[in-house]
Amino acid sequence: MAENAFRPNGSRHHVVVIGAGFGGLNAVKALKNADVDITVIDKKNHHLFQPMLYQVATGLVSAGEIAPSTRQILRGQDNANFVNGEVTDIQLEEQTVTVELDGATRTYGFDSLIVAAGAGQSYFGNDHFAEFAPGMKTLDDALELRSSIVTAFEKAELCDDPAERERLLTFVIVGAGPTGVELTGQIAELANRSFEGAYSTFAPGSAKIYLLDGAPQVLPPFGKRLGRKAQRTLEKLGVDVRLNAMVTNVDADSVTYKDMKSEQETTIEAGVKIWSAGVAASPLGKLIAEQAGVEADRAGRVPVNADLTVGEYSNVYVVGDMMSLDRLPGVAQVAMQGGAHAAKLIAAKVDEESTADKAEAFDYFDKGSMAIISRFNAVVKMGKSEFAGFPAWLAWLGLHIVYLVGFRNRALVAINWIGNLISRDRGNLEITQQQRVARNVLDAQDSKKDNEKGKAKDK
Ligand SMILES: Cc1cc2nc3c(=O)[nH]c(=O)nc-3n(C[C@H](O)[C@H](O)[C@H](O)COP(=O)(O)OP(=O)(O)OC[C@H]3O[C@@H](n4cnc5c(N)ncnc54)[C@H](O)[C@@H]3O)c2cc1C
Repeated sequence: MAENAFRPNGSRHHVVVIGAGFGGLNAVKALKNADVDITVIDKKNHHLFQPMLYQVATGLVSAGEIAPSTRQILRGQDNANFVNGEVTDIQLEEQTVTVELDGATRTYGFDSLIVAAGAGQSYFGNDHFAEFAPGMKTLDDALELRSSIVTAFEKAELCDDPAERERLLTFVIVGAGPTGVELTGQIAELANRSFEGAYSTFAPGSAKIYLLDGAPQVLPPFGKRLGRKAQRTLEKLGVDVRLNAMVTNVDADSVTYKDMKSEQETTIEAGVKIWSAGVAASPLGKLIAEQAGVEADRAGRVPVNADLTVGEYSNVYVVGDMMSLDRLPGVAQVAMQGGAHAAKLIAAKVDEESTADKAEAFDYFDKGSMAIISRFNAVVKMGKSEFAGFPAWLAWLGLHIVYLVGFRNRALVAINWIGNLISRDRGNLEITQQQRVARNVLDAQDSKKDNEKGKAKDK
């Protein structure tokens, strides 16, 4: 172990947790009563409830409602300390993790490590699509998206050329999984209901909304029956759903796809393009896999042992979207249960009197999944039970109220949110200049960092 690495408390077992998302935060909470010190590191200062990101993008909730401060969440947990910074290096053999925030850096020593750094967007090798079709993984993404959706309508108001107005008001969403479907449904609701009568030179309901996917059905994880129901609901909202449609190009003005059956290529002129089609694990996955002598899969996920440890490292756990085990899906429950499992094993290891199995296999309990399609309409799959429509919407609503009230303890927020869901008006449609220009500035910042790293290497 590196001698000069930082440890919060001389001799107590030190657990470093990378990521304060679903997996990491659940692990920290499960270690509350264990005889350990915990350092939780996240490059963001908030825990993000990703399943509601599309609601930020379409004005249903404000950013803060789904992104509580991690420091405040952990304030009451005496054995946990939060560090806001990006993990730039992990050394499994030396048992160190290096963190950086705007030039400030520190290397932490660990006894146990839980890596839960999640996943980002994947463009399946076509990273240049990202410039014109951003994904939706972070608050920045959702706010930028909200800005481009609202700005499209504002530009249309100023446009006298019918063809250009049609292009401005054409939205293409790539990827018909839960995120794509939910986002599509909400853009349709915005155009058809929220903006109805709000513009003087055009009817917002004339906006064209396309949902494309290379798969033969929408919502593949929900099965054929619910997929068909979801598709019908979207079509009733005016969405043009195109399946077996493999996107081959995205540029500033259009999206091109190939029909997988007829091989025919079609180009859709579109002002707003959104990518929700694939995920790639955090680059930390590759770093860990290389050091542990295991091979990351195509999405960069780390294959883990049955107890969620990696290779020969019995003190290193990888959980959530970064892990690859038994084809488990990248969903919140897998991450939460994985985090809790790793914590349970660490707690047993530090408790000398514990007789528990310290390498117990992770046993995932599938609690089901749900997706909202539109107002009063959702799909739910729980084991063999499947239902759709209003009852599913009520179930979906119940779960989200539990989240909003339980997490932030703010019933008023939940009431406000339900009001937004049911009424025509949305309380969070403001856009700022920052959101309009943010991506260019962030891109410039990233390339500056890359250049600096390149120069440092060359020296
Ligand atoms: C738009 C969207 C909608 C979704 N909807 C659903 C849904 O309805 N139901 C469902 O079950 N699942 C849903 N998911 C998937 C679910 O959110 C993920 O499976 C879950 O968040 C995975 O948890 P995790 O802990 O592995 O990663 P995350 O929750 O993503 O947390 C990872 C954390 O690590 C931090 N991090 C990453 N790299 C570094 C670094 N180098 N240094 C420091 N910190 C780092 C990140 O900032 C982040 O806070 C959705 C995902 C998205 C993007």
